[in-house]
Amino acid sequence: MLAPSLKIEGARYAITVDARRRVIEDASVVVDGGRITHVGQAEELRDVAAERTIDATGGVLTPAFVNGHMHISYAHAVRGLFPDDFVGRDRLREVFRLQSAMTEEEEYWTSLLAVIELTRSGTLTFVDPGSTRYLDACLQVYAEAGCRVVTGTTVIDLDSDLALPRCPTAEALARTDGFIRAYDRRLQGRLRAWAMPFSSDTASSDLLRGCKRLADTHGTGMTIHHNGGSTRMLEEVGALGSNVLLAHAAGIEDSEVEAIARTGASVVMCPSTSLKEGSGLGKRKLPELLARGVAVALGADSANSSNYLDAVRMMNAAALGFKDGRLDVHVVPAEQAVEMATLIGARALGLESDTGSIEVGKSADLVLFETRRAEWRALLDPVNNLIYSADGRSVRTVVAGGRVVVDEGRVVFADEAAVADRVQELGEGLLARTRTRVNSGRWPVE
Ligand SMILES: [Zn+2]
Repeated sequence: MLAPSLKIEGARYAITVDARRRVIEDASVVVDGGRITHVGQAEELRDVAAERTIDATGGVLTPAFVNGHMHISYAHAVRGLFPDDFVGRDRLREVFRLQSAMTEEEEYWTSLLAVIELTRSGTLTFVDPGSTRYLDACLQVYAEAGCRVVTGTTVIDLDSDLALPRCPTAEALARTDGFIRAYDRRLQGRLRAWAMPFSSDTASSDLLRGCKRLADTHGTGMTIHHNGGSTRMLEEVGALGSNVLLAHAAGIEDSEVEAIARTGASVVMCPSTSLKEGSGLGKRKLPELLARGVAVALGADSANSSNYLDAVRMMNAAALGFKDGRLDVHVVPAEQAVEMATLIGARALGLESDTGSIEVGKSADLVLFETRRAEWRALLDPVNNLIYSADGRSVRTVVAGGRVVVDEGRVVFADEAAVADRVQELGEGLLARTRTRVNSGRWPVE
């Protein structure tokens, strides 16, 4: 069912991220049939009517945000379980141990809470890198929330110390093929199913090559957790290309930047995870990748690794982390941070023709920030305030494909407090069932 036509009228600024990167003052946007039909100054569009009008006076309008690496399920049940110094392989082993013990019901509720958190802070598109086990249960969440999802099923065919189901290469490829056939373009096309080998050290070259071939055959994509040193191997086996999204890309060198650029592959970096793990965000090759024209998206990773899902904080982490890491105020300017979370992020996911900017013809995926708040004033440069002063809690309205899904700061598709209570209960149950010792921090809890 199509949403009624909608007019967002008189925003103080609209940050369009269109081809000219226009910031329109006193802007209106009109939406019909789920798509943007008009973008311009309120005065010019005064006579264009719609079934519903939202008075955006004083607000800042942006495209909805794109999150290129977001393990959506599981983590909300155990958020905050891991202390600051529990990172890397040890953390990952524990993540998979807990995740593999989860039931369908638990995954449904944790995914719903994650989608609430994402949506309420303005993110409508995300890549779940294959970690959801009960996708059918989660489809209902995605349908109601109106989000756009890239997902898949994680496959590995080499021995690993992680509690991931390993299977023979042919079976891993058959599972990937079956998944893409079953799910690609569901949710009226908003769901894209990709090939998702976990990482190059848990997948054979036959599996990597086969996954890429399946992505090509089905006209879809592939994402993989990627580390420096393995880029050349991926290129040699034919697993790099314009439909491949490399996650994290930690430790890559300049020659690997060249290989990524040469093959047209994209990258997603998770600044908050790198910062939290003390893994040297500023040393990563983000400025070099962007300079070579590689589409780099930003990701929030997971609620138990970084741990917030707020795209505004994610952009802030990227803009600050690289300036500090490079001792250079010229890297990752505020505008570039916005691009990575919108248009360039959408490009990295192959979704640029549908979302990522406020332009006529695109899906009406929009975020309206309330700026009559202390942290938004004075409002002289909306991009500067968005990146350096605000966070996602000032989101007032979110429109997903023309449908209002956040109204006056609240999601309309679920009762956030009730879902939070449910996840708390399920998380405590999961920890008890799996005999997980909870280290409640360094201070005594009495
Ligand atoms: Zn991941």
